[in-house]
Amino acid sequence: MKKITIAIDGYSSCGKSTMAKDLAREVGYIYIDSGAMYRAVTLYCLENGLFTPDGIDTEKLETMMPNIRISFQLNPETQRPMTYLNGENVEDRIRTMEVSTRVSPVAAIPFVREALVKQQQEMGQAKGIVMDGRDIGTVVFPDAELKIFVVASAEIRAQRRYDELKAKGQEASYEEILANVKERDYIDQNREVSPLRQAEDALLLDNSNLTIEEQKQWLKKRFEEAVNGKC
Ligand code: C5P
Repeated sequence: MKKITIAIDGYSSCGKSTMAKDLAREVGYIYIDSGAMYRAVTLYCLENGLFTPDGIDTEKLETMMPNIRISFQLNPETQRPMTYLNGENVEDRIRTMEVSTRVSPVAAIPFVREALVKQQQEMGQAKGIVMDGRDIGTVVFPDAELKIFVVASAEIRAQRRYDELKAKGQEASYEEILANVKERDYIDQNREVSPLRQAEDALLLDNSNLTIEEQKQWLKKRFEEAVNGKC
């Protein structure tokens, strides 16, 4: 069966990664969470004192970018991908509220995007990949055979994120998460480089009222149509 490229974009916490991961596992494709890469750079900035009272020390970050190596490995027990930063598993540390509140300004820096987009394109060279993010269908893989743009209300997305953090035993406040979701939407949509937008040829999925199972089935159907050339 021919291998295709699948780009899944949308707002933060709208369930993109859950459906992307499940599809990749089911059809034997590689799954890449591009947001995890921006989060890993943000963690690097936090751990290396690059957030200053005046903002991000972009000059220093630019010189350090070549030292930031991000990779993914499957957890053998859960079969879920884990993010590695310079050889260290940072999967849990990139999901904290601290990283969530700081990631969008880091992701708006042009040289950060340039470096990560290059790595993402290399990862997708052989096709057979599902990548989720904000600019995958518009910038990273503009020729992807299947593009999905996912939306859901900010309140529903905040509730999902809250439930996720609670399930992991992390402290969370719904109000704080809702404010963060809205702030990230704003920055992601209004930045100069690669703002979040639906590609013209992307299929829109509003999953506000869908269960995870329903979303999965919807995506699987779109995948089969794309592979069979109906998309
Ligand atoms: O997907 P996730 O919410 O983990 O992404 C974290 C942040 O990384 C987003 O809010 C966005 O600012 C940034 N991002 C991006 N481009 C991508 C993926 C994520 O700008 N392709």
